[in-house]
Amino acid sequence: MQIKRLKLTGFKSFVEPAELHILKGLTGIVGPNGCGKSNLLEAIRWVMGESSPKSMRGGGMEDVIFAGTSTRPARNFAEVALTAEQYVPDGKDGSAEDLEVIRRIERGAGSAYRANGRDVRAKDISLIFADAATGAHSPALVSQGKISAIIAAKPAERRQMLEEAAGISGLHVRRKDAEQK
Ligand code: ATP
Ligand code: MG
Repeated sequence: MQIKRLKLTGFKSFVEPAELHILKGLTGIVGPNGCGKSNLLEAIRWVMGESSPKSMRGGGMEDVIFAGTSTRPARNFAEVALTAEQYVPDGKDGSAEDLEVIRRIERGAGSAYRANGRDVRAKDISLIFADAATGAHSPALVSQGKISAIIAAKPAERRQMLEEAAGISGLHVRRKDAEQK
């Protein structure tokens, strides 16, 4: 799965709609401290279903909504749309298909997800990304301070990281589901 485009509206410091096209190859994002580089990585994790406000550097999930400044009022919602090229196996060579996932949070109303225009559950989103061996907890997304956290991780936590890297996290979710039925 390859991320092609990211659109942010009212997400953290991105108060005005911002659209980023991510081309093939290496992309670097540079800017002064506090300009929003980490916020962009958090937007990718968030649209993939991140459920921990703490790992978004907030106290509650609504903290991702633009909080306002002395000159700009706060917003009532935040939205992130991610377009990715997804490999679709078809028994032969497989093909590539665009997948658009949108997450939106409104004050007092929580998060809602859409995948290719359809309303879906948070769990569906995490399965889509887990099956593509990526997602909000993918070891491919390395946040500031994450390296020291990996070094200090307990064996069980490290196992979880390895399972995510191996792309088998989705299987655990499905097994848990089946056991409950
Ligand atoms: P550094 O180089 O120091 O790592 P950075 O480019 O990664 O900086 P970020 O941490 O992404 O910067 O951005 C931090 C900025 O985002 C701060 O100015 C902070 O006030 C702003 N910010 C975070 N959440 C919100 C919010 N909900 N509303 C408005 N601004 C926010
Ligand atoms: Mg940063």
